[in-house]
Amino acid sequence: MEQKKQKPTAENETLIVSRRIQRVSLHLAPVPRPLHEHDTQEQLGLFPCARSAKLEVETEKLSLYMRGKYREIQEKIYEYFHARPELQTPLEISKDEHRELCWRQMYGLIKEAGIRPLKYVVEDPGKYFAIVEAAGAVDISLGIKLGVQYSLWGGSVINLGTKKHKDKYFEGIDSLEYPGCFAMTELHHGSNVQGLQTVATFDPITDEFIINTPSDGAIKWWIGNAAVHGKFASVFAKLMLPAHDVKGVSDMGVHAFIVPLRDLKTHQALPGIEIHDCGHKVGLNGVDNGALRFTSVRIPRDNLLNRFGDVSRDGQYTSSLPTINKRFAATLGELVGGRVALASSSTSVLKVANTIAIRYSLLRQQFGPPNQPEVSILDYQSQQHKLMPMLASTYAFHFATSYLVEIYSQMKTTHAAHLVGDVHGLSAGLKAYVTSYTAKSLSVCREACGGHGYAAVNRFGILRNDHDIFQTFEGDNTVLLQQVSHISFYCVLA
Ligand SMILES: Cc1cc2nc3c(=O)[nH]c(=O)nc-3n(C[C@H](O)[C@H](O)[C@H](O)COP(=O)(O)OP(=O)(O)OC[C@H]3O[C@@H](n4cnc5c(N)ncnc54)[C@H](O)[C@@H]3O)c2cc1C
Repeated sequence: MEQKKQKPTAENETLIVSRRIQRVSLHLAPVPRPLHEHDTQEQLGLFPCARSAKLEVETEKLSLYMRGKYREIQEKIYEYFHARPELQTPLEISKDEHRELCWRQMYGLIKEAGIRPLKYVVEDPGKYFAIVEAAGAVDISLGIKLGVQYSLWGGSVINLGTKKHKDKYFEGIDSLEYPGCFAMTELHHGSNVQGLQTVATFDPITDEFIINTPSDGAIKWWIGNAAVHGKFASVFAKLMLPAHDVKGVSDMGVHAFIVPLRDLKTHQALPGIEIHDCGHKVGLNGVDNGALRFTSVRIPRDNLLNRFGDVSRDGQYTSSLPTINKRFAATLGELVGGRVALASSSTSVLKVANTIAIRYSLLRQQFGPPNQPEVSILDYQSQQHKLMPMLASTYAFHFATSYLVEIYSQMKTTHAAHLVGDVHGLSAGLKAYVTSYTAKSLSVCREACGGHGYAAVNRFGILRNDHDIFQTFEGDNTVLLQQVSHISFYCVLA
């Protein structure tokens, strides 16, 4: 039955309006106590914290504890950049200048401050993540540029290659003589890595692989370090072997190959290599992302990163893993370090945003009881509801990602097989959860600081733009969460 609408009368309209005004006034000039004992409007009351008695916290001890065991190397990085103001990123900077500055920041860190990240990628991954975290606090582009050089390019050579690759490339990568890229993503395939189309065909006559981009969709896209600085790339391509059947080749699945991109002396692109610039991005403009096309690029057979599969001089394929799927899983499994780094770097971004928003909220005052000083905006429950659960989550993420770093380091240094499943599941889950949470929180923090949160100098805009892509690279968050549910499902069955 249709309900009859009550006709508005002057009397009930006045009642509604005065109730509304009363509610709003509780926000504007809140009273410290509820109006009545059982009044639900109590929630809108003032919940003083800014002017309440200070808690006795030993801040120095807490800070020392929270900075953890790698604070020394982080302080060394901060001190280096404090002493070099010309290396600090200004607010207004063009893409090209930002790329050059980011390179100089990285170069200074390695050559002047004497930081050697690749050593730690291998021996003490926790220390390596701490270096990336500190560099990211200087400029997130710098943290990502380091990640491309050491975790992606360096990590792929170290983890997917064998001794001959380490002997040949380790020093050059660590010292920045060999700046490099990690070329996995293609224009048509990002998350679906097994769908990659680039091919590496073995030529038994010359003992070489021939790298080809068979279509526009197979152009390597978004490749960090490619547009300007990279001299090498680890290129992910389908390994093709000659076969005596109608097809003429057999596809052994996706493998990684070291491909020189530019001449070491002249920096000119090498024959068969076409390099394009992916252009200005929403953020991270200190990183030079580029596109790569290969036309019959010949590389020695030794450039196959052959830890999980090898090709002999006479073109025979050998692997300790029996199927393409198992080799693919092992290859990608070696690359989880990037996810661990992103989960921990995203937590650092959240720490910075929290600190800015909470400090500001404590000092900023708006409204107050009649004839009394205005109150701190942190005294409003609405402000507390925005910021305090976020602060608690930041602590939780700090401990969760520290644990992840710990078990990842154990797995890498002791080769403990029983940790592989945990590291895989936790790194995928935490990377996805933390980066999504931080991306949303950056907007909340900006809003919590009102108009002043919008001034570029207060950093929310830069943090938000630079961090946003953390949700996509190193595994799109939706796809990663599907992996987590898949892993959990099999854990339940086991
Ligand atoms: C700044 C930047 C730097 C990068 N650096 C590098 C680099 O150095 N090297 C490199 O190789 N790559 C790099 N990348 C590429 C990055 O890794 C890819 O963008 C990422 O893997 C996602 O792939 P995609 O862009 O093709 O998105 P897609 O895979 O096309 O995803 C698009 C959307 O589809 C959804 N989707 C996809 N599959 C599924 C599914 N199965 N179920 C449900 N939803 C799905 C995703 O959730 C997403 O929302 C970089 C990208 C950027 C933007």
